Amino acid sequence: MENNIYDVIIIGGGPAGLSASIYIKRSGLSTLIIENKMLGGLIVNTSKIENYPAGIYGESGFDFSMRLINQVEKFGIEHKIQNISKLVLDKEIKEVHIKNEGEPLVYLSKTIILATGTYPKTLGIKGESEFTGKGVSYCATCDGPLFKNENVFVVGGGDSALEESIHLSKYAKKVFILHRRDKLRAVQNLIEKVNSIDNIEVLYNTNLKEIRGEEKIDELVLQKNGAEEIYKVNENEKVGVFIFVGLKSNNELFKGFVDLDKEGFIKTNKDLMTNINGVFAAGDIREKDLRQLVTATADGALAADTAYKYLTYKD
Ligand code: NAP
Repeated sequence: MENNIYDVIIIGGGPAGLSASIYIKRSGLSTLIIENKMLGGLIVNTSKIENYPAGIYGESGFDFSMRLINQVEKFGIEHKIQNISKLVLDKEIKEVHIKNEGEPLVYLSKTIILATGTYPKTLGIKGESEFTGKGVSYCATCDGPLFKNENVFVVGGGDSALEESIHLSKYAKKVFILHRRDKLRAVQNLIEKVNSIDNIEVLYNTNLKEIRGEEKIDELVLQKNGAEEIYKVNENEKVGVFIFVGLKSNNELFKGFVDLDKEGFIKTNKDLMTNINGVFAAGDIREKDLRQLVTATADGALAADTAYKYLTYKD
């Protein structure tokens, strides 16, 4: 690092950011990854990975992340778990301000790769936030085992909802998938798998409208083909509600500075440059049609290569 100025600071330690760091380090540049939670990203919540080319078939997202983090460690790549308070991106030397008690802490870098990813969307219905962690969950890997031999309700009809329903079916007595339309959005092989599992039932044209209860979930208010139906939870029963209704862009740090699409994802050119010189974007945070592990890691490599070329041939 020259004069305490990094070549590339990577914001976000998911598959895109970690992959970028490996490419940056191998090209001889200095880099720092800053992550606010834990390295690994949202993929750690995924129960099973089947479509990463030549990956370990059926490996959990957590195990995949551990292998990727190990690789990053082997390269001696610097990383920090810290909360960023402000980014200054429009100067030649970018500033990353860290929330810090006492002395101000600012990291400087010639370039930035934004790889902040996404977080799960909520339904926004009554009872959802009150019962989060008390029956309502956004992570089947984390909370599935709590519902052994119980009924669980999964909301959503995309890849996540179906993949996680398959995982939940191993613990639960029965998995009810509540899908708002009459056709699932997920890929065909997941639909076929779900249809082949005896203890999964898809309830089409069904919305979850409200979650009611005192200490625990007592009632689920459903709307099926327009008519209200109440699922009453027995005294000895404990239901789980798993919500997989899509992803939201994690753009709080740079909204208003970096050009975003209407859903809040970063617009880039084909080389993953944003509208700001020296600022690149990679992974799920980027405007794209296919948000998968393979596109995230590929983005990391491409953004790193673009940053390298920007730093090497700029003048
Ligand atoms: P998604 O593809 O956006 O699907 C969200 C689902 O939730 C849709 O079925 C949608 O219904 C439903 N939904 C949205 N808002 C709702 C609401 N307010 N009430 C009820 N239902 C609602 O999200 P995802 O499944 O989380 O996947 C996100 C991305 O990750 C996708 O690109 C996906 O391909 C990828 N992913 C890939 C894998 C894999 O490769 N194995 C696994 C998981 C996720 P509609 O269908 O009616 O819109």
